[in-house]
Order: sequence, then C-alpha cells, then structure tokens
Amino acid sequence: MKISVASGKGGTGKTTFAVNFSLFLNNKNKNKVVLVDLDVEEPDCHIFLNDNKLNTKECFRQTPKVNEKCNLCGKCADICEFNAIAVTNTKVIIFPELCHSCFACIEMCPQNAFDIENIEMGEIHWENVTNENLCFIEGKLKVGEVMAVPLIKQTKNFASEKFKGATYFIFDSPPGTSCPVIEATKDSDFIVLVTEPTPFGFHDLKIAVETMQKLKKKFGVVINKSGIGNSKESFGQELYNYCKNENIPILGEIPYSREIAELYSRGKDIITIPSINNIFRKIEKGITGLL
Ligand code: SF4
Ligand code: SF4
Repeated sequence: MKISVASGKGGTGKTTFAVNFSLFLNNKNKNKVVLVDLDVEEPDCHIFLNDNKLNTKECFRQTPKVNEKCNLCGKCADICEFNAIAVTNTKVIIFPELCHSCFACIEMCPQNAFDIENIEMGEIHWENVTNENLCFIEGKLKVGEVMAVPLIKQTKNFASEKFKGATYFIFDSPPGTSCPVIEATKDSDFIVLVTEPTPFGFHDLKIAVETMQKLKKKFGVVINKSGIGNSKESFGQELYNYCKNENIPILGEIPYSREIAELYSRGKDIITIPSINNIFRKIEKGITGLL
C-alpha cells in the first residue's frame, strides 16, 4: 500500500507524522515498511531515525545539447514550452535549469542536431534503519538545482525496485500543491493531509483538498497540534465544520503538548507515548476503512 503524507502549508507536522506512522506500522505485526522522503529540497526524516551511514547513488537528468549539424533554423526555440532554448544569429543557447526533459526539441529538429547530456541533479540515499523491516530512502537535490520532479520520480522508482514486496510505502511529500506534490502523490492509494488548526493551516488545507479532489485521490485529514489556534476551544469550528460539510474524514488529532514538543526537539519518536500510539492505531483503522 502506498500512502503519501502531504500538507499544503509547511510546518504542520507532516514529517513528524510520516516518520512516526512508519515506525508505528513497522512495530505493529513487523510489517515491512519503507519510509521515502520525497521532500527533496530539504529532506529531514533522517534526523528522526538512526544515524546510520546512508548508501548513496548519484542521480542525473537528461537535457539536450546542440551539435555541429545545427543550421540555426530556430525551430527548437519555437517548440520549447518552457523557454529553455534561445537561438541567436550565431548559436543555440540552452538553459538546463529551465529544461523539463520533454525532448520535443530533439524530435522536431530537422537537422538531427541534438545530442543528450546528463546533468547531475542530486542523490538518493537509503538504508535499513531501526531493524530489518523499516527501510528508509530519501532524495536530495543538489544545491542550486531547481527541478524537483525528476528526482522525486527517480526516488520513487528506486524505492519500488529496491524494496519490492514491502507492505507499506510511506511518502513524505514536499509542502505546497505544485508539481512536486503532484508527483509525490499521484500514484498513491491514499493521501493523508496533515493540517494544524490555525488560519494559515486551514487556508492551505482547502487548496490541498481541491488538489486531491482534482487528482481523484482518496484522502483524509490528520489535525496536528490540536488544541491551539483555530481549534474547538478558541477560534471556533471552521476547520471541523469545513471537513464535516465537505464530507472529509478526520482520521485523528495529535494534541499540542509539551511532551511531544520535547521529544520532537530531541529528534525522538513520539509513538513511545501510549496515547499517541492509540491515535495512530485509530488512524490506520480509518485509512483501511476508506480504501
Ligand atoms: S531546430 Fe535543430 S537545427 Fe534548428 S536551431 Fe534548433 S538545433 Fe539547430
Ligand atoms: S527537452 Fe523540452 S524542455 Fe528541454 S529544451 Fe527541449 S523542448 Fe525545451
């Protein structure tokens, strides 16, 4: 089963949930669980896992490179949807940071004047962590590299091949609702949207919900830091009413507590707290019931 953890707003506790839910599933019945950190610009799941030395694989993306057959006709610049090519009177300039590797320019070039160049975009790191059943993989973009989607795709493919037969893949998605999030969620069986009961959290949750509805994904909401901000006790019931009106299941609520904050700040997991373990049990049951 593939479960993506997404949020819309950053800082809602998406990574905390992804790591602890993976540990929970791993502990329970010794399921083989693979935690995949797809937040490739700033992967941080590893902070909460063992400090094992991770295996490393360099990752590349392909971009076109002009060769001597070019006659400067300009067709490639016209065809490129992403303005990644400029043709001057004397040369063709390719901007690799804008290239989406669609290869339309290569297909359309009448002179067959393109070769393909590999550009290093980042690395995949992986390791078995707490025990033989919990495996961990992350994609990490090179500093200065702006194209997250190709690395997310390669990290997902690598995880599926490396850990064939795992019971669960938990994908920690990037924040937001743009292309990297779509790539990190589009193949999953279920999406957990982690939110917090604050005006910002609520605002971005609605955008994340619209995105998942457009993708026709099954999803549910986990409210983290329950008890602060726009919660039942203080700013009213907007978040709860919204979920009720939109028929969105609230899978569980993780309380805003000093104990959790202290464990988090030390990079420790929170499933050691019995009440949190029960909440994760309820969330797992909720997800299974919706599939
Ligand atoms: S389409 Fe081909 S021949 Fe024309 S400018 Fe581009 S690379 Fe050169
Ligand atoms: S591969 Fe696609 S995105 Fe890249 S330069 Fe060619 S047409 Fe543009």
